[in-house]
Amino acid sequence: MTKINIALKNFNKEELTCKCGCGRFNFDEEFLIRLQAYRYILAHPMTITSPGRCVNHNKAVGGVDTSCHQCETKPATAVDFWCTSMANAYDKACKSGLFNEVIWYKAKNFIHLGLDRNQTGNYFKIN
Ligand SMILES: [Zn+2]
Ligand SMILES: [Zn+2]
Repeated sequence: MTKINIALKNFNKEELTCKCGCGRFNFDEEFLIRLQAYRYILAHPMTITSPGRCVNHNKAVGGVDTSCHQCETKPATAVDFWCTSMANAYDKACKSGLFNEVIWYKAKNFIHLGLDRNQTGNYFKIN
């Protein structure tokens, strides 16, 4: 398990640990710094609805094998979150330059923020 070697003002290890109960926490530090930077830009509380995921949990929630959420074979570089101003949050996430995956799942009411280093260009989408 990776330790956070940086202090995050607005996020803690518990909310970034896999939700299946396995206790797995393994995040890419650069991604966490970007997430905190985004939180400062948003200037608004964020509820993490899906952080890193072990392989089994990623499968269980329908994540693809290459998901940036997957944190068992590599550090996670994605979170899903909810807040009370989603349109504003989506707009700021796209403009921030901090993530190359920003997907607003309107019906499910969450925004995916991802950093996929194998991807060229940005993937911004409202679903
Ligand atoms: Zn798990
Ligand atoms: Zn996601």
